[in-house]
Amino acid sequence: MTMDNAARIAKGDRIAAEAASRRTFAIISHPDAGKTTLTEKLLLFGGAIQLAGTVKARKASRHATSDWMEIEKQRGISVASSVMQFPYREHVINLLDTPGHQDFSEDTYRVLTAVDSALMVIDAAKGVEAQTIKLLDVCRLRDTPIITFINKLDREARDPMELLDEVESVLKIQCAPVTWPIGMGKRFRGVYHLLRDEILLFEAGRAERNQELELIRGLDSPRLDELFGDQAAELREEVELVRGASHGFELGAFLAGKQTPVFFGSAINNFGVREVLNALVDWAPGPQPRDATARLVNPAEEKFSGFVFKIQANMDPAHRDRIAFLRVCSGRFERGMRIRHLRLGRDIQVSNAITFMAQEREQVEEAYAGDIIGLHNHGNIQIGDSFSLGEELQFTGIPYFAPELFRRVRIRNPLKVKQLHKGLQQLAEEGATQVFKPLNGGDLVLGAVGVLQFEVAAHRLQTEYGVDAVFEPVNIYTARWISCADARMLADFEKKLADNLAYDGAGNLAYLASSRVNLDLTQERWPQVQFHATREHA
Ligand code: GDP
Repeated sequence: MTMDNAARIAKGDRIAAEAASRRTFAIISHPDAGKTTLTEKLLLFGGAIQLAGTVKARKASRHATSDWMEIEKQRGISVASSVMQFPYREHVINLLDTPGHQDFSEDTYRVLTAVDSALMVIDAAKGVEAQTIKLLDVCRLRDTPIITFINKLDREARDPMELLDEVESVLKIQCAPVTWPIGMGKRFRGVYHLLRDEILLFEAGRAERNQELELIRGLDSPRLDELFGDQAAELREEVELVRGASHGFELGAFLAGKQTPVFFGSAINNFGVREVLNALVDWAPGPQPRDATARLVNPAEEKFSGFVFKIQANMDPAHRDRIAFLRVCSGRFERGMRIRHLRLGRDIQVSNAITFMAQEREQVEEAYAGDIIGLHNHGNIQIGDSFSLGEELQFTGIPYFAPELFRRVRIRNPLKVKQLHKGLQQLAEEGATQVFKPLNGGDLVLGAVGVLQFEVAAHRLQTEYGVDAVFEPVNIYTARWISCADARMLADFEKKLADNLAYDGAGNLAYLASSRVNLDLTQERWPQVQFHATREHA
């Protein structure tokens, strides 16, 4: 073997090993279940303590709609911490934040396309909630493996068995309890680890300060009777029952997205959190191969590739700067690298990509599959864009969702119509809102998943483009993207239904239905035309 070959193999091994040590995940939950609290505790384990306060500060201003302008001002913080990278047990953990407000759910959905696993947080008193159901549906599109954390056991909660039943029946995923709660509320004593046959003792308020909690090995330990009295026998009986009535953990079923390992604890007390983090390292998958139409791309490949799943505007309002979040899918990215922007067919040199290390390092020196890097975007990067070292690798599976809310756009000053179009086009490219241009030449229509998106659009049109726009109600119920294999039939469809058709920001044809009934009838009448509730990158 020549030296050259040896060096290449060593480099290849390094890339494979770096990729395999990555865990890239997001937390999914209904607002208030404890996502922010849990994020903080996870960062504490990663030694990124200085960030913990940041998470809280951001959270405080995130809730109310009227606080949006405030959030805007604090974009710097939120972007820096919307991807959090920290080391844990010789692994590199990438935690991707998902916007908490449900009005930003479309953005959340796309973040989920960039992760390899998800951590689902459930409030033990509330069980499965609306937002959890929606987010899990999105995870299911890619069979993303899910770890479940049932939170707030330090409060009076619902019966744990009943909670598992609810997860199974509502979310259609098998539950494999890994830890089991011993009591709850004031009588919360800790958890029993079903796989390790160990009891982790809980003491309110103590856990956070002192992570070396007492551990009891074995369910039949006399120490248990000593500490718990009658509650010990109860626990033994309950564990017997749980073992009989629930599924054992199966790695294969978890990786296939069919089964979720379930942990109980209390995030605010930092209790049960380490077990979750360990599960993430031990069981959750590293970066997975990704589909790029031409072929499957393997994370251990030597050559760099990746795709953009999110664009964040106004990091620095003075520069009207936008950052494109790129997930590395293969190879090694290094500072100063020339990478090919595939949609534009152009090479760009990336000398100042941003990293999201918790240690506040600014510039990316290198990154591997699973990592997220931030590219400065001066308007030429869109969500779904792919980058490589030259090979045509357009990654797929980055969806746009059919909006559920619509507004007609009017402007007060007709001389500004050009700016209006430009502004809306850019907002559409960022995924901040969707824009539809009716075929019949009528007013532009904005589409969104949440009302707040309209508010954001109006504010940004005003401040960034100097356009005073008015959004008016419009009689549209939903949108469906149209495709049809038969070109003549499509032309006929376009002619007959022109008043209901529009092009979106990327030039795709969409049908704007006035009601559910209208949509159903149209679909019935045009059986060869396909109506899609999601669309992929153009
Ligand atoms: P998010 O909206 O999902 O990010 O939820 P937060 O992390 O902000 O938590 C919502 C509320 O629940 C806050 O008041 C937290 O202090 C509280 N909370 C979070 N975890 C726990 C817990 O383990 N026990 C109790 N009692 N409260 C908790």
